[in-house]
Amino acid sequence: KESHTWLQNYPAEVLPSYSYSEEPLQHFLLRAAEEYPQKTAIHYMGKDLTYQEVYEYAVQFANVLKSLGVEKGDRVAVMLANTPQAVISYYGTLFAGGIVVQMNPLFVEREIEQHLVDSGAKVLVCLDMGYPRVQKIRDHTNLEHVLVTSIKDFLPFPKNKLYPLKQKKDMGMKIEVNYDRTTHNWKESVTKASKQREEVAIDPRKDLALIQYTGGTTGAPKGVMLTHYNLVVNTEQCVQWMYKTEKGRERILAALPFFHVYGMTTAMNLGVMHVAELVIVPRFDPKQVLKTIEKKKITMFPGAPTMYIALTNHEDIEKHDLTSIKACLSGAAPLPQEVQHSFERKTGGKLVEGYGLTETSPVAAANPIWEGGKLGSIGLPWPDTEMAVLNQEDGSLVDSGEVGEIAVRGPQVMQGYWNKEEETNAVFSGEWFKTGDMGYRDEEGFFYIVDRKKDMIIAGGFNVYPREVEEVLYEHEAILEAAVIGVPDPYRGETVKAFVVCKEGQELSDNELETFCRTKLAAYKIPRLFERREELPKTMVGKVLRRVLAEEEAEKSEHG
Ligand code: AMP
Repeated sequence: KESHTWLQNYPAEVLPSYSYSEEPLQHFLLRAAEEYPQKTAIHYMGKDLTYQEVYEYAVQFANVLKSLGVEKGDRVAVMLANTPQAVISYYGTLFAGGIVVQMNPLFVEREIEQHLVDSGAKVLVCLDMGYPRVQKIRDHTNLEHVLVTSIKDFLPFPKNKLYPLKQKKDMGMKIEVNYDRTTHNWKESVTKASKQREEVAIDPRKDLALIQYTGGTTGAPKGVMLTHYNLVVNTEQCVQWMYKTEKGRERILAALPFFHVYGMTTAMNLGVMHVAELVIVPRFDPKQVLKTIEKKKITMFPGAPTMYIALTNHEDIEKHDLTSIKACLSGAAPLPQEVQHSFERKTGGKLVEGYGLTETSPVAAANPIWEGGKLGSIGLPWPDTEMAVLNQEDGSLVDSGEVGEIAVRGPQVMQGYWNKEEETNAVFSGEWFKTGDMGYRDEEGFFYIVDRKKDMIIAGGFNVYPREVEEVLYEHEAILEAAVIGVPDPYRGETVKAFVVCKEGQELSDNELETFCRTKLAAYKIPRLFERREELPKTMVGKVLRRVLAEEEAEKSEHG
């Protein structure tokens, strides 16, 4: 039995079990435009767009899609960096009754093709920079139309303002797009379209809003099917969670990519539902982000641990006034406790850890934001969400304190994987979605992630959870980042290897590292191998890719 729930830490007015809106997600943009038409919705590199403008563009985009033959249930792929167009294309697709398929704008041809073929998308929105890649594979897909937009579409772009985009070189490059019957200029098409909204009937509990691919860090991508209801619920849960913040008054730093489920819900959709100003930073550049927080008086900043690590260690941090920060949610990967402390100390705001997956829209649990959180814990299951710990052998429920696989049941859990019945069946046990994460629950109902099931290292018969070793390494003051994997070992089956990035101007010998670990870890957990790196491979949301490190190791051993 649950001895403690999320709600115990909350005042009475937010207590009742929530009834979530039975509405399509795009209605929240409609409502924001009705109630707060002149409020800034998006701040993007010096340019502001109001809720009225974003709403109108979204309706116009929906009308463009309709004129291209998009009907309810058709998939529309959106392959954009964080820009106003990304928000408009996403909500516009929903207004047209379409299903959004989000894609990373940095995908290479093979990946673009894979996602388009699997989802069967009929229309794609991409940046001019991505267009040459799309063109090469377009004939192998179901695409009927491509809409091409430019980073500059909403900007009077003075050359010296191109910073801080990394793709600076690409941006100056003249990209030839041959507009024809099936390739359209996004901006031109949108501005010409009617602003008349035609309502498409949506059943929020049944109709999909999104196919969101996952598996980037673990294997072949699978399309997670999320309904309007899934997304509305998770966003409303976010609103409940940060109940002290105010509708229409917050400014959210959108550094996480919207094309990832985490940035989509906790920055973009939360922003729209809460009628916040979304301050888009095109690329996570710590120096620039520090300036933006101060200048725009950012109040909320959802991020990944690596972002907070980069900020707290940045030499400029003391130069900026960051006290506007109220609430930050760290997710996607474990947040080292050291980092949480130092970020809170430096901003005076709250930074707490949450947990989720693409399959759960994504948030399943979080620490209470204002008080009552626990360090190192992913917090309590969200309202109306249940979490359980399952025995690995027989799937039975285990007692608090015992490690097992975490399972989630709740209104934000996906419908399954697109066209993948077998994979879907493998992750569900009745209504319970099995996360593949190993963890436990304490006596008070707080959950802790020990590690990914498949990242567990078995060294000489002992289980080693890389994360625990990484936590220890992060405690060392000379270490900026650390990742731990298992590498094959003739005697122990696997042995523990640590990759370490030292802070600037710092050095550490193997011996020093080992001695440090020896004071904090049992012998079998201590890395036998250390490697120093300049940086670690990461996903777009800053999750360290242990898989890439493991692949590099495998390759090395093959070649000698
Ligand atoms: P994705 O579907 O790409 O968002 O990845 C989901 C995975 O991220 C989860 O299954 C976890 O392994 C990991 N994850 C998310 N949040 C946390 C967290 N707070 N601590 C540890 N791992 C996390």
